[in-house]
Amino acid sequence: MHPTASTAEVDAVAEKIRALGFQPHKMPGAQRIAVAVTGNPGPVDPAHFQHLPGVVEAVSISKPWKLASRETHPHDTVISIKTAARESKLGGGIFGIIAGPCAVEGREQTLAAARAAKNAGATFLRGGAYKPRTSPYAFQGTKLDGLKILAEARAETGLPVVTEVLDTQHVDVVAEYADVLQIGTRNAQNFALLEAVSQVKKPVLLKRGMSSTIQEFLMAAEYIVKGGNYQVILCERGIRTFEPMTRNTLDLGSIPLIKRLTHLPIIVDPSHATGDSLLVRPMARAALAAGADGIMVDVHPEPEKALCDGPQSLRPEEFGELMTTLRAMAEVLKVSL
Ligand code: PEP
Ligand code: MN
Repeated sequence: MHPTASTAEVDAVAEKIRALGFQPHKMPGAQRIAVAVTGNPGPVDPAHFQHLPGVVEAVSISKPWKLASRETHPHDTVISIKTAARESKLGGGIFGIIAGPCAVEGREQTLAAARAAKNAGATFLRGGAYKPRTSPYAFQGTKLDGLKILAEARAETGLPVVTEVLDTQHVDVVAEYADVLQIGTRNAQNFALLEAVSQVKKPVLLKRGMSSTIQEFLMAAEYIVKGGNYQVILCERGIRTFEPMTRNTLDLGSIPLIKRLTHLPIIVDPSHATGDSLLVRPMARAALAAGADGIMVDVHPEPEKALCDGPQSLRPEEFGELMTTLRAMAEVLKVSL
């Protein structure tokens, strides 16, 4: 639609789409609104819309991830979250830093990690309360108690909280405490869960499935956007290949490609991608250089005592050094950090 199109003109386009038997999706943008069409079994003649008042152009979308595609929405989606103390943004030239422990183990550990993240310049706090563990005998997370600890850490640091939701039955409780709901790699194609978070009025951080193609990754995002939740952050966290010496293989080549294919922001998790704290800082720098919109990094006050993913966790001072380097790089790359 034209930037000056009126609400009545946008509504008339949506009505026309319904009259043809399809579903309209009003997609907000920084400058103007786009109205996408879904439910059409084949191409729809653009002539139906081209001459309606307020319409700039009508184009056919060639990608199956229709609502997530750049063709539908050319401008970058920017995620913006306000807590009582601050506003944190990610996307559209703003590099978001999500840092914190892999798991919320207890109050002192989480608050120490949150303070370290905040002091070094992180813009979001991460921490899993509900943990997907490969072994049922491993530490399973602190669950509701963990969500309460994260809320306390947000109150103290002002950082918005990113935390994982494991299944549909916990969507409401996680949404009550979290600012961003994380869908983990093991749930990247749990379509019932994707549909459930599409109904939540909070951003979703969607990790790439460890064996998902880029198309499958974007189609998973499409489930969330189709349900009406346009606030999706994609996260490349490495895929499973024949190589056992790194925890996963970080597919950094996907970053510039995904940026071309979708308007949604894409970040990198170098911690789960490599599984080794010595590899995390170089790969975090590479993520910024590759054009990612942010990183998600495990930071633990005492990695050797961590109940989950200690070997890949940065100590507070290591995270601080990483931030110093990223700031210098961001200046050269003209990215805000
Ligand atoms: C995590 O970020 O805590 C996590 C479990 O990551 P992934 O789903 O990428 O393995
Ligand atoms: Mn982990």
